[in-house]
Formats: sequence, structure tokens, C-alpha cells
Amino acid sequence: MNNSIKIYSTMSRQVTELVPMTDKKIKFFVCGPTVYDFPHLGHAKTYTQFDFIVKYLRWSGFDVNYLVNITDIDDKIIQRAKDRNITWRQLADEFEDIYVKDMAALHNTAVSKYARATDYIDSIVSQVERMLDKGLAYRVSDGSIYFEIAKFGDYGKLSGRTELKENDAVSRIDSGDEKKGWNDFCLWKSSKEGEPRWDTAIGKGRPGWHIEDTAITEAEFGAQYDIHGGAIDLIFPHHEAEITQMESVSGKAPLVRYWMHTGFLNTGSVKMSKSLGNFQTIRDLLARYDYRVLRFFFISNHYRAAIEFNDAALEQAKNSLNRIDEFIFNKVDASFDDIADEAAINEAKAKFHEALAVDLNTPQAFAVLFEFIRAQNMKEKSGRRTFEFLNQINSFCDFMKFDQAKSNEFIESLAKERDAARASKDFAKSDEIRDRMLAMGVKIYDTKEGTKYRM
Ligand SMILES: [Zn+2]
Repeated sequence: MNNSIKIYSTMSRQVTELVPMTDKKIKFFVCGPTVYDFPHLGHAKTYTQFDFIVKYLRWSGFDVNYLVNITDIDDKIIQRAKDRNITWRQLADEFEDIYVKDMAALHNTAVSKYARATDYIDSIVSQVERMLDKGLAYRVSDGSIYFEIAKFGDYGKLSGRTELKENDAVSRIDSGDEKKGWNDFCLWKSSKEGEPRWDTAIGKGRPGWHIEDTAITEAEFGAQYDIHGGAIDLIFPHHEAEITQMESVSGKAPLVRYWMHTGFLNTGSVKMSKSLGNFQTIRDLLARYDYRVLRFFFISNHYRAAIEFNDAALEQAKNSLNRIDEFIFNKVDASFDDIADEAAINEAKAKFHEALAVDLNTPQAFAVLFEFIRAQNMKEKSGRRTFEFLNQINSFCDFMKFDQAKSNEFIESLAKERDAARASKDFAKSDEIRDRMLAMGVKIYDTKEGTKYRM
């Protein structure tokens, strides 16, 4: 497996080697959804791309703790609940459930833990208390608490937006007549009788948006961790605010070693939602396209690139995926020993992973894959080494379709081969077969009866 992976960080604006704080352990946090409506296309893109990234890092030998928050209290949630005459809790639960199911439908299965904001009220209160103690935050007359940006000299270092004028983004920053600075943001909103609120040491109210992330990550990871991810439009003001909060409270910098942001999704002039109904929810998309097409589409585009999303682009993805399907169906025979192709397959494998090792360059890696398929298609058939290579790719991409019976039969043969090697004390060989099985995403258990496994 790869020893070294390089990634781009929005903070350094450079591609550098991924070095976690501790050994091969990566603490990875990605901003999750606000659960007030059906998840849409943008969620599908962001979370499928991060799902792939986390799976690839795990495949490469990193132990990734992948944490995603769920914003389950927010103005939109409160308003929608009111409109439907249900409680905010009912509404948030309903859409959290839908979100989790939609992610499962897209095979986005890498998340280690979903963290609900309202399960971290104590951590939020503790963080705000420390800000008040340090004189970083202040209270206004209705009881709401704001962070005073003038107290944090590093504000703007992620977005580079230090020269912001008041009018540039004022609409995106909490309003409030008594704010000391125009860009000060809300940490704690006081609530009136009848509104959702928590009765805490800092008053009766509810958390602002930015504070939930740093409270959750401080509780789960500590004041500093490895990677923070999210869609590119969250850089300002959301991620800038997170840095401001956590670094000023803890006195430790940087908050994270790497900032990973996924690129914009452009739907251009194609009015998909208007001409085709509410096409942009994940459910509507999945009604028209197999999850494999969507995964292929999102993963084959580089995660940092802006994606042009329209029917033509999806059809193109579908056609490309068909080429892989047809190759597997027509040419790949796992029982055939393709020793003659070994060198070519090893070369393709090496090039494929070399591309991914530099900021997960999927367009380049997929070009290698299609070139390989083109060459193999000229032959009468491809054998077990090709089968293994494709299975390996699929263990972190999850968009290929194999004949399940054929796959099981092949894994079974590897397990038997490994047991035979162990019986004859050829441990080098048994380890080599184990590594091949692991690389294909097969979990292995050594038992008295020999090698047991799970796909
Ligand atoms: Zn967030």
C-alpha cells in the first residue's frame, strides 16, 4: 500500500505530504447538513467525494476517524416546524433520518460517527464561557453573545479576506444593532418563551452555527486535529469563524493541519429543477440514475474542481461506466491465469495509485484505468490479476458491478491458497495473499478452521 499521500490544503495553498499528528491516525471532520429539507445534489457531491477520500486514505493504511456533524437546531428548522405545526425536534429527526438513508443509498458508508449539535450543548456552553472569561466575547442586552473579531489577530487567514468591506458579505454575517464590530458573529442566541431553548449557565438560548463545530470537534478530537473538510462555499465566514473560536480559546494553532474543500457544483443555465420537477433532490436523482452512475460521476471529477452538472454530463458518466461494466462482463474471467499480463497490470496499478497519491487526482487515475481497459479489450480475455486490480479500485470507489458468485468463488480460492501456504509454513506467501485480499477490501479472520473472510 502507499506510504505517502500528498494533499492540498486551502490554508497553505500547497500540495504537501499528509502527516497526521499521531502515527497513521487521522482525525477528519467534515461539515454536515442542516436537517430541515430533503438532501440535494450538492450534498450528494460533497459527501460522495469525501466518502471516496476517506475510503482511499483507509485503503492506504491510515486509521481515519471520520466525524460529521448534524445541525439539528437552526432558524430554518424552527420556521419549517412552525409551518407544519410540528416540533423542531420532530422535523429535525425526520430529515436526519432521510439524510442518513439517502447517504446509504449513495453507498456513502465511511462516516465513523454523526454528531448532533444538540447533544453537545454542554461543550458549547463551556466554550462560550471560556470566551467570556478571556474577554473574547460579549453579551448584548437581550442576552445573546457575540465573538469580538477585533480580539483575534489572525482573522481572515484561511479565506484571505482581510480587506473585506462591510457591504461585501454583511448579509452573511449575523446582524445585530449592538454589535461592536460589523463582522462579529453570534455564539449564543437568546430565546424567548415558546422558542426552543436550553437553560444554561450562559443564559436561556440556543447555539449559533459556527460554535457547534468547534464544540463537537473539541469534545471528540481535542483542540487540534488533522483534517477539516467541507464544500468550498463554507470557507467564509463559517470556517474562518471556527479558526477564530478554537485558536483564540485554546491558544493553540493551527486548529487543523489541512483544510480540504470540494469545488463548486454548477448547474449552469440548465434549469433542471424547473423543467423536470424537483430534480435536484438525491431521491429524484436516484429515481433516474443508478447510484453507481452518480458515484462514478462525482468521483471521476477531481474533488477540488468545479463540476458542471447537467443531463449530458450524467449521460457521459453513464456511458463511461458502461465501458467498465462491459469489460468486466465480457472479458474478465477470474479463473484464467493471466501471468502474461502481470507486468502490464503492475504498471497500470502503480500509475493509478501514483495519480491518487498526489491530491487524489482521480481524472488522471481514471485515464490510466481506461487506457488499461482499452489495451485489455484487444485481448481474448483478462484473468485474475485484472479481476483483483478492479476489485481493489472498487473497494474505495464502489461503482463497479461484479458477478457476486464469481467474486465469491475467487476470494474462496485465495483463502484456500493462503491456508495451503500456511500449512506448508510458507509465511511469506500467506502474507502476500493476505495483503492481496485486504487490498480488495476483504476482511480476514484467522480461525482454527483456516482463513475466514467477509467481503
Ligand atoms: Zn460546519
